[in-house]
Amino acid sequence: MTTGVWLIGARGNVASISMAGARAIARGVVDSTGMVTAREPMASLDLPSVDDLVFGGHDIRAQSIEETVEAANEAGGVPNRETLDAVREDLRAIDERVTMGTARQCGQVVEDLSDDGVTDEGTLADIVARIRSDYEAFAADQDVDRLVVVNVASTEPPVGGAERFDTLEKLETAIEDDDPDLPASSLYAYAALIDERPYVNFTPSTGSALGGLRELASQNDVPHMGRDGKTGETLVKSALAPMFAGRNLRVLSWEGHNILGNRDGLVLEDDANKEGKIESKGNLLEQILGYDHHNAVRIDYTPSLGDWKTAWDHIHFRGFLGTEMKMQFTWEGSDSALAAPLVLDLIRLVAFADEHGEGGEQPQLASFFKSPQGVDEHDLSRQLQRLYDYSERHLNDARPSGGTAE
Ligand code: NAD
Repeated sequence: MTTGVWLIGARGNVASISMAGARAIARGVVDSTGMVTAREPMASLDLPSVDDLVFGGHDIRAQSIEETVEAANEAGGVPNRETLDAVREDLRAIDERVTMGTARQCGQVVEDLSDDGVTDEGTLADIVARIRSDYEAFAADQDVDRLVVVNVASTEPPVGGAERFDTLEKLETAIEDDDPDLPASSLYAYAALIDERPYVNFTPSTGSALGGLRELASQNDVPHMGRDGKTGETLVKSALAPMFAGRNLRVLSWEGHNILGNRDGLVLEDDANKEGKIESKGNLLEQILGYDHHNAVRIDYTPSLGDWKTAWDHIHFRGFLGTEMKMQFTWEGSDSALAAPLVLDLIRLVAFADEHGEGGEQPQLASFFKSPQGVDEHDLSRQLQRLYDYSERHLNDARPSGGTAE
């Protein structure tokens, strides 16, 4: 069984480093440190092997995957030269399988990034038909049995009036009527789900979160999940906030300031595109702590930092005897090196869910996302427990006795 992977935003940092990482694992030059599926109990599941994943994708820029990885190596040292040289030929071959996508309703800043050849001519129905035939042609050419579609494209502005698309009927009418508010991420998601292809949205963009797309996924019994990979500051927050809650320490304010210098940071400089990201980064504290408090998140573009994102958080809290105290942390991470292993995990886990006929949203994958669709739980360890329980359940089912673990 061959698993194909179609990355929307294939020439961007997250996509390129994910593919470079997968090929480097396949060639034995790096190990799987950072991948959740390399740990037990997930490692014992019958997941598709990273070595065998076959990649293709859409982008709206002509810069090749190899050039993106080369630039990442030069600017931030990730991946290192040896790894890059080991996968260079593989990246060139994958780049041949990248086609131009659509930049509909992605905001001016994304339109400004796009090169000639973006297939925006025609109606929404034409664009959807083109995307579906791109998926189909890749699956046929590469002889893949299952194609997982993953959105790692630039963040779009949030959709205004999303309730207009809250049933499949309304959504399909909107496509027929060429509704200008439907964004590219939802068109790519529709094109995947309609043909029963599993879909993952690693970005804060709308993707499959529209009611009409959730209905389509349930109807076609196809797994999908999003939104916005939890890789840095929000990951730390979701591990740390339960400590304050558990010890009954009252958080008075939580300020987070992020600075980053890659293309994602440039796109997030635009207020419209930034809005979705701020929403998904800020929402979890209130759910974990259970009360309202002053909580602000800022994201600023600092070109000299490249892919190295720095987050500085200041937490002001009150304890026994009304004593006010403070905690601060600084997180410095290579954005793409944090995101890439999770993208590979999600591909494997969503393919596994599809293999087992588990359609709709995937709550066991909540720990991977800042705004997990259909899940209100944001506490990282509880989210991870769902994944462990899910994996144990499958392992138990697969045991010859069909029975319990020892
Ligand atoms: P990037 O700018 O390097 O890559 C995005 C790619 O998407 C670019 O190649 C761009 O040309 C392409 N693109 C934009 N609009 C497109 C469209 N409509 N169709 C096809 N391709 C399109 O950004 P990145 O650092 O790779 O981040 C990608 C996404 O992942 C962003 O939305 C980001 O917010 C999200 N994300 C990243 C991280 C992380 O890096 N740690 C964590 C969570 C979420």
